[in-house]
Amino acid sequence: MRDLPIRVRLTLWYFAMFASAATLLGLASQWMLERSLEKVEYHDLQERADDVREALSHQGQVQDTQKLHDVLAIIYEFKDGGKYLQVRDEHGNWIYRSRRMISQNPDLRTPDMLPKAGLIVDFRQGTHFVRTLEYPIAVEGTRYSVQTGIVLDRNLDLLNNFRFNLLLLTPLVILLATIGGHIMSRKALKPVAILAAESRRINDRNLDIRLPVSNANDEISDLSRTLNQMLKRIDSAFMSVRTFTGNASHELRTPISLLRAEIEVALFRHRDGQEYRAVLTRLHEETLRMTNLVENLLSLARADGGAETMTTAPICVDTLLPEIAQTWQRTINEALLDFQVDISEAGLFFMGDHRAIQRLLSTLLENASKFTPPGGSVKLCAATKGKSIVLSVRDTGVGITPEHKHRIFDRFYRVPTSGPVAPGSGLGLALAKWIAERHGSQLSVESTPGLGSVFSFSLERIDIPLQTLDASEASLHGHNRDSTFA
Ligand code: ADP
Repeated sequence: MRDLPIRVRLTLWYFAMFASAATLLGLASQWMLERSLEKVEYHDLQERADDVREALSHQGQVQDTQKLHDVLAIIYEFKDGGKYLQVRDEHGNWIYRSRRMISQNPDLRTPDMLPKAGLIVDFRQGTHFVRTLEYPIAVEGTRYSVQTGIVLDRNLDLLNNFRFNLLLLTPLVILLATIGGHIMSRKALKPVAILAAESRRINDRNLDIRLPVSNANDEISDLSRTLNQMLKRIDSAFMSVRTFTGNASHELRTPISLLRAEIEVALFRHRDGQEYRAVLTRLHEETLRMTNLVENLLSLARADGGAETMTTAPICVDTLLPEIAQTWQRTINEALLDFQVDISEAGLFFMGDHRAIQRLLSTLLENASKFTPPGGSVKLCAATKGKSIVLSVRDTGVGITPEHKHRIFDRFYRVPTSGPVAPGSGLGLALAKWIAERHGSQLSVESTPGLGSVFSFSLERIDIPLQTLDASEASLHGHNRDSTFA
């Protein structure tokens, strides 16, 4: 059943429901008709017995059997000669027997043997089916048994007719209902078929197509809307992948062309060792930049594919920040900037991926050094805020105008500048943002154009007993937290 199409299943359900309902209804109406006929027949027979009592009661207290017979004979021979009637007194003497009763000769119980409501006795006479009621009556203190009967042929014909019609009509109704059900289910499922046909048209080149949404506020339009929302998400994911690939190719093409040009110029004529050395140094710098770009691209691709994993472990701020500061000290100093590390409190720990956090802070420090004019300052800070540790990089650089503030986290986005373009690819902050998010945090920026920027993110502080720290870490706790790397 599960393998069948919904349309067929619905039709089968319709069939099963209507078949059982129609059969039940037919059986119930037949039963009710039979009961009603039986009731009418019983009342008819009872009335006939009452008529006999009426006739006998007019005779007063007559004990003469013959006289009573004559009275009944006068009434019934003439009126009911062809009918079924026999009367017996309480001693078993026959008072009256119609010709049909005599020919059938059914026995009639004495009144004391009969229940108050009488007894139904059926028999066949020739082709007729006869229903009789043996009924006790009492007239002037004397009790009689009366047996009256009626031919049931007409009622039986009626019942048979009813059954025949029922047998003919029920399958017809079931058939009609099944056809109706089939048509209805086809109609109900037509929008689904349309949706399926439309969906089949959609492929990776026309993801902007949307499925039709009917005006009715029903389940199908709800489904169309949901599918359209899903298409929109897939479309924008595809778009961003395409843009990413396009941007990545573009970013790689520039340094490769540069390398080629450098090499071609160098090979154009013979040069001395000094010149070759200078060319090779430039090429080396360029390849370093390319390596950095490719690494960033790879990391983002892995992040998108869920392949970039994080290994979290307790990280001590007292160790992490000086470590990073040491790496960046020279670069920042070479950019003629003052560099400071400010840790507000000793013994701060958080859970994180050491390498990833290092990379995040390095990106922020690299940007700070790139976008801060000589003579400015860069500060790497750690402070507590409630149960969190806020890590930040502050600079007194060019700052970022509000319209670019949120876009700088987009891949390949770089704030347009009229001056010389700083090296970079616009991927650093996108990666930094992703790392912060993977640590359950948000990388945010506060900036005043011309005055500087603060990039920060917060991480949950964890408590680690001091004695569990190794000697090298413990030794850092005694140091001055504010060190200058200038
Ligand atoms: P990249 O540094 O390689 O250009 P990023 O994604 O790290 O790429 O940064 C994107 C852009 O954000 C930068 O090009 C720059 O315009 C802006 N930006 C980032 N950090 C700073 C900063 N500290 N001060 C001013 N502008 C910044």
